[in-house]
Amino acid sequence: MLRGSCACGATEYEVEDAFSYAMNCHCSKCRAATGSAYKPMGGIEREKLRVTREDTPMFAWGEPDAGDFRCGVCGSFLYSVVRDGKWVHVTLGSLVDAPSLLPDHHIFVGSKAPWDEIGDGLPQFERYVT
Ligand SMILES: [Zn+2]
Ligand SMILES: [Zn+2]
Repeated sequence: MLRGSCACGATEYEVEDAFSYAMNCHCSKCRAATGSAYKPMGGIEREKLRVTREDTPMFAWGEPDAGDFRCGVCGSFLYSVVRDGKWVHVTLGSLVDAPSLLPDHHIFVGSKAPWDEIGDGLPQFERYVT
């Protein structure tokens, strides 16, 4: 089991170390949502993630079955509910522990920031590829 936490500690979660896919998303939405060049994320069935601490109700942007979930205190981006509410995309930066599956490709590289130079040798895709 992998532990995850927001920046302030008010929200914590556990997720099985069983991501089905992991990648770095360079789309403009993920860049804005993370304030970063890209969002490293891992996809897993929703029932394999459990929020274990929620001092203040989490902030959800979007619908309960299709939205981004953040700590209700500090706003750290923890995961998105996707694929008809059945899966989550966990922000790997919010994990305390290291997952076995690491991002192995980049997606939406056509939308990457002009100053962002991808320096690794991982495959790059213009579109969504899991
Ligand atoms: Zn927090
Ligand atoms: Zn994205």
